[in-house]
Amino acid sequence: MAKNSDRSKRTPKETTRRTKRKICNFCKDDVTWIDYKDINLLRRFMSDRGKIRARRVTGNCAQHQRKIAIAIKTARELAFLPYTQRTVTERAVSAPRAVSSPEAAESVEELAIVDEEILAMDPDFTAEIGA
Ligand SMILES: [Zn+2]
Repeated sequence: MAKNSDRSKRTPKETTRRTKRKICNFCKDDVTWIDYKDINLLRRFMSDRGKIRARRVTGNCAQHQRKIAIAIKTARELAFLPYTQRTVTERAVSAPRAVSSPEAAESVEELAIVDEEILAMDPDFTAEIGA
């Protein structure tokens, strides 16, 4: 489009965004009703965290996106699909929790943490420790 004219006039806004109009998958098959029990289908329109994908991502038309969203919400209500989903990377870097039993604690700091936890749970335990 702007290829024949000079390049020095740099107007980034003028470069037209790809106008590749994606045809909606459901319109193509003339779908009128989306089954909320069809989990495999619905999952294709959800992120790995369980969120509903946006229309600009899925390429659905407004009507079918709405139907998909309603179907997903119905499926969630019936526990076919999760509302949210934990991903593996989310809590990978968390430090290991303090050991539960004092015998298993190796360092003094760990023991201190355990003691604090015990005290928090049961204040009377102080007497038994001899503190
Ligand atoms: Zn459609």
